[in-house]
Amino acid sequence: MTATLPIYDDVVDAGRTLEGVAHRTPVLTSRTLDARLDARVFFKCENFQRVGAFKFRGGYNAVAKLSAAQREAGVVTFSSGNHAQAIALASQLLGVAATIVMPRDAPAAKKAATLGYGARVVEYDRRSQDREQVARSLVEEQGLTLIPPYDHPDVIAGQGTAVKELLEETGPLDALFIPLGGGGLLSGSLLAAHALSPDCAVYGVEPQAGNDGQQSFRTGRIVRIATPDSIADGALTQGLGELTFPLIRQYARDVLTVSDGQLVQALQFFAERMKMVVEPTGCLGAAAVFNEIVPVRGKRIGVLLSGGNVDLSAYAGFLQSA
Ligand SMILES: *Cc1c(COP(=O)(O)O)cnc(C)c1O
Repeated sequence: MTATLPIYDDVVDAGRTLEGVAHRTPVLTSRTLDARLDARVFFKCENFQRVGAFKFRGGYNAVAKLSAAQREAGVVTFSSGNHAQAIALASQLLGVAATIVMPRDAPAAKKAATLGYGARVVEYDRRSQDREQVARSLVEEQGLTLIPPYDHPDVIAGQGTAVKELLEETGPLDALFIPLGGGGLLSGSLLAAHALSPDCAVYGVEPQAGNDGQQSFRTGRIVRIATPDSIADGALTQGLGELTFPLIRQYARDVLTVSDGQLVQALQFFAERMKMVVEPTGCLGAAAVFNEIVPVRGKRIGVLLSGGNVDLSAYAGFLQSA
């Protein structure tokens, strides 16, 4: 392992770096829901974060932490989702050149958004090329610094600032439910929760179709799976990271799963009752609470809503499905 595990001090440090740059997103509640669950539920609304997801926190922190020489050479990443937008905007704000490696058949809207933040897009062929290899060759040939979507200490520390803000606002909680893909958000959240609310049970929640995190947590080694099929497109990772896994293993209470149907129900609840757009992946933690996958009655609960970026026609379809 080349990088050392981040600690809570790194989250505090990231919080300072993000001050006045990232939004301090609202914490919202619903009386209807609290009455239904006989609980007090606090939603940390990262769907209202810049670029529409918490990923701006980790992305900005990672770019800000680069040396002058690294900033001069520029950064590269290979995600086509929220992390790409986060790196593109963070780089623009910090005056760093960003390259985003994207599949040739990525949605035009995503490509346009990335270009809109001033990033360069390098396309690759999904069938014949490996995106990580394309990015790594740019690192070698052009001296760019690779900023991966989750397995990076500064990314993890940045992601932890959302739960730090939440707990500063709510005080200690009994349980916390966090969407889980590669585990950057969960491991940063665990550092914050362990420091600010040490008795809080923190759960990662992933799609049922891709429960590699649950298998890894329960067996004690990183289990890798084929890319799963779920509407939670921000959590379709094949395995936890070398940095995120040990933090999750040490501090998480458990990893839970929810079905796509349960995600759609949660998405509909947010639209109808709370008047907000939450993307399917952003609903993972909420769906676990709504379906009482673990007991929530009588408890003070935190739920991280991780993002709100969803294609409008897909969203309309989710709203219409029964
Ligand atoms: C990336 C992402 C996740 C998963 O985050 P990890 O750090 O990979 O676990 C969850 N929700 C949204 C909206 C995301 O963009």
